[in-house]
Amino acid sequence: MNSPGVFPCSRCDQPLSRKGGEFYLIDIRAVVDPVSARNLVFEISDDPEFEISQLLKRIDSLTEEQLVSEIYQRKLFSLCPNCYVTWMADPFGRESPAPRSST
Ligand SMILES: [Zn+2]
Repeated sequence: MNSPGVFPCSRCDQPLSRKGGEFYLIDIRAVVDPVSARNLVFEISDDPEFEISQLLKRIDSLTEEQLVSEIYQRKLFSLCPNCYVTWMADPFGRESPAPRSST
């Protein structure tokens, strides 16, 4: 698996190469609901200073990585053609657990 330009399918571990048409790149971006995020910062209460202090406390309690992951995450996966078809039909894996190579 250490050959240059060869990498495993993210689902079944089958070796894939960068030659054209042999795999699918899945690019998933998850962004927090922007309405909720806006409300978190700008929600008007009877005591806006209290709201801001609570927000700052919450921000202080999170690492930068946690803070970023709560707002935005991006994941890239490479799938072989068979796994691509299966994944597209059931992206949340409700019906088909991933096959795993026995190596
Ligand atoms: Zn696969």
